[in-house]
Amino acid sequence: MEATFVAVRVRPGDEATTKACAVALDAGRVQAFRDNSKGSYLRSQQAFLQSYQFDASFGPEATQREVYDVTTRAHVASLASGDLPALTVLAYGATGAGKTHTIMGEGSLRSGGPARRGESTQAGIIPRAVGDLFAANPKRVRVSYLEVYNEKVYDLLSDDARSPLRVCEDEKNGVVKVLGLTELGVSSDGEVLEALRRGNARRTIESTGANDVSSRSHAVLRVSVGDATLSLIDLAGSERASATGNRGARLAEAAHINKSLLALANCINALTDKTAPKPKFRDSKLTLLLKTALESPSVRLVVVACVNPSMASVDDTFNTLKYAHRAKELPTGETDAASAATSEPVRQQIIVEDPPKKPDRR
Ligand code: ADP
Ligand code: MG
Repeated sequence: MEATFVAVRVRPGDEATTKACAVALDAGRVQAFRDNSKGSYLRSQQAFLQSYQFDASFGPEATQREVYDVTTRAHVASLASGDLPALTVLAYGATGAGKTHTIMGEGSLRSGGPARRGESTQAGIIPRAVGDLFAANPKRVRVSYLEVYNEKVYDLLSDDARSPLRVCEDEKNGVVKVLGLTELGVSSDGEVLEALRRGNARRTIESTGANDVSSRSHAVLRVSVGDATLSLIDLAGSERASATGNRGARLAEAAHINKSLLALANCINALTDKTAPKPKFRDSKLTLLLKTALESPSVRLVVVACVNPSMASVDDTFNTLKYAHRAKELPTGETDAASAATSEPVRQQIIVEDPPKKPDRR
C-alpha cells in the first residue's frame, strides 16, 4: 500500500459548546488542547496540547465539494482510467462526529429520502465519486453493500438481510470472498445510489447513550469497475464503551467495534511501516474484508477522521486524532501550552475546555 492520505474534518459545533473544545487547524496541522488545570485554556499555562500534522484538515466551514476534491477526486479519476487497482475511503470518528455526513451526505442517501444524483451541495463522497466514475463511461460496473455488525456480515442488498454471510479466504491465492453476497450489475450512478438508499434503510440502527440514533455497524459499499474496486466505508462510532454508559448488548457491540477498529489500525500500520510485523487481516471481519483492497502495493487508502469540537467530545477528539495519526509515519508533537504559544500562529482556533470531572467516589 502506498502512503495513506489522512485528513481531519471538524464539524460545526453547537452554539453553546463552541467555546469548549480545542481544535486548531492550519494547513493540515491539527492541534487539540485539553486544560488540565480546571481553568480555561487561555488562562492556563499548563494546558495539555497534542499537535499532529495531517495531509489535510477541514474546518466547520469546509464544503462537501472541497472535502471530496481534496481527498478523493483525483484517485477516482485514476481508478476510472485503469491506473489505480483499488481505492478505499474510510470515515472514522465517534458517533455524531460527521462520518455519515462526510461519506454519504445529506438528503438523497438517508433512508426514506428520494434517490437523486450527486449534484446536491450536501452530497458526500459516495455520490460524488460514483458520479465521476460513471462520467468516464465505465464498462461492467457492479455494486455490493454490506454491513459488519457484532463481527457478523450482513448483505444490505438482499431481502434476507438479517442472515449473516460467511467470509472465506482462499488458502491458495489469499482472495477473500463473502459467500452469497449480492452483486448488482448497474449502468448509472443513479442505480448505485438507489441501491445504497435501500441498503441504508436496512442498516442496524440502535440507540446509545452517546446519541439518540447511531450506527453501531461498519457499512461497506463496494463498486467494481472491471478489475478495479472502489470501497467506501462508513465506520461504526469509535467512542469508548465506558464513556457512553453502555451495558449488556451495547457493551458487547462496543467491544466488537473497538476490536475491529484496533485491528484496522494495526493492519494499516503494518502496511505502511515496513519494519512493523505482518498485518493480521484475520483479527477482525472488517480487516479480512478489506484485505485485497489494502494489501497490494499500488492501492490507495484515504482516511477522513471526523471530530466534533464540543467540550463533551474532547476525549473522543484526542482519541480520533491519535488513531488517525497512526496511519501516518510522521513525528508527533506533544508539548505544553507555553511552548505552543511560541510556535507559528494557527489560522483558525476553537478553544475547548476539559470536560467537567465526575465526582470522585472513593
Ligand atoms: P456520524 O455518522 O459520525 O455519527 P453524522 O454524519 O450523522 O455523524 O453527523 C451528526 C449530525 O451532524 C448530523 O445531523 C449531520 O448532518 C451534522 N453534521 C455533521 N458534520 C457536519 C458538517 N460538516 N456540516 C454540517 N452538518 C454536519
Ligand atoms: Mg453515522
